[in-house]
Amino acid sequence: MGILVHSGTILTMHNRKIIRDGAVAIEGRTIVDVGKTRKLKRKYGRSYEKIDAKGKIVMPGLINTHQHAAMSLLRGYADDLPLQEWLEKWIWPAERHMSAHDIYVGSLLTAIESITGGTTTVNTMYHYTFEENEAKAFAEAGLRGVIGHVCFSWRKKEDKEALWNLVKNWHNKANGTIRASVDPHAPYTVDPEYLKELKETRNELNEKHGSKEVPIIWHIHIAETDDEPQKIQKAFKIKLKCGVMAYLDSLGVLDEHVIAAHCVALTDEDIEIIKKRNVKVSHNPVSNLKLASGISPVAQMLKKSIVVSLGTDSPSSNNSADMFETMKIAAILHKGINKNPTLMPAEKILEMATIEGAKALLWDKEIGSIDVGKKADLAIINPKKPHLCPLYNEVSHLVYAAKATDVETVIINGKTIMENRKIMSLNIEKVMREVEKVKSNLLSKLDINVK
Ligand SMILES: [Zn+2]
Repeated sequence: MGILVHSGTILTMHNRKIIRDGAVAIEGRTIVDVGKTRKLKRKYGRSYEKIDAKGKIVMPGLINTHQHAAMSLLRGYADDLPLQEWLEKWIWPAERHMSAHDIYVGSLLTAIESITGGTTTVNTMYHYTFEENEAKAFAEAGLRGVIGHVCFSWRKKEDKEALWNLVKNWHNKANGTIRASVDPHAPYTVDPEYLKELKETRNELNEKHGSKEVPIIWHIHIAETDDEPQKIQKAFKIKLKCGVMAYLDSLGVLDEHVIAAHCVALTDEDIEIIKKRNVKVSHNPVSNLKLASGISPVAQMLKKSIVVSLGTDSPSSNNSADMFETMKIAAILHKGINKNPTLMPAEKILEMATIEGAKALLWDKEIGSIDVGKKADLAIINPKKPHLCPLYNEVSHLVYAAKATDVETVIINGKTIMENRKIMSLNIEKVMREVEKVKSNLLSKLDINVK
């Protein structure tokens, strides 16, 4: 039996088309029809299960293109520190004590937070562990995701094994909702030779387990802070007379399969290279602001029609997985620093969080808009709330006024994962109890006391 979502305002995100009193018909995992309620009810009304969206907004699920899902375990554990000190003194020492089970539990929590906030796809970079891992957590939660294994120069052998295992076990698995990626951590933690090798590895993995339709992408942090060129020079004893993007291009590792998180400290030449190589960008305004990393020249990149998507970054540098908050901050941040309120209008921001996100993950043939033939990933928002009243313009409300908690129902891959704010796939209370247990355990191993 199919599902008919009817009587809602459908924001298709296909050329910004909006259908009032519209309906979406879903069969299995796929959207089979989109149009006016009257017409679709006649066609499917009798046999389909119905979801009444009267007075509600129906949109494609949000796509978060940069996460470290398991790091929800460290939310609020260390704040108000510069990136390097935060990573080296706090985050990495704690992560050394995390077991495969901990990673799985942290990812379950992020999956729940994402789904309840209308996010249906998450691109996550973390350590792939064999028995339990982020992929298993997402698959159990019913969340769509690109799961990466983060690679560092100091553990090349382990990385190789983890990458092949991740791809073999999870790429295009869980009814096609899980894809794998190769994730070099950053140009200052991955040496130039290893970067080239990891591009080769991605190509080999694609030949063996990927395809043009279901590609294995390359997810990396690039130009997060101003001092990144100095960090690269110091780490690998090389001279660098250009921006980080130009350095990576000189290694031949940039192409359309690359999604670059942050892209804060870019030169004009770097931006040209992003455009030329068709590199995709994940903009993470909340994390960049919190870590005081700087502000990405997003308006400049959009002017060049570069694909810029939105990400939250980890729940320990954000400290949430809330894409509504990210949309609003992305919009107002660039207006503010450019002293130009016409920049980054709500329509563009919503595209960045949906269809542009899908393009950034090379997944736009299947997700990112409500179109016949695409997978059914939908979020239904109830605007009958004081903070969303009156309603002139749905897109404006979603970007500037709505909150993650306004999402009522979420469908992923044709399956209702959350209905009237109740998650069907997992027991939220149980996951939260387990997270508290993991936290206590981590603290006892670290021998510190966080109040
Ligand atoms: Zn990150």
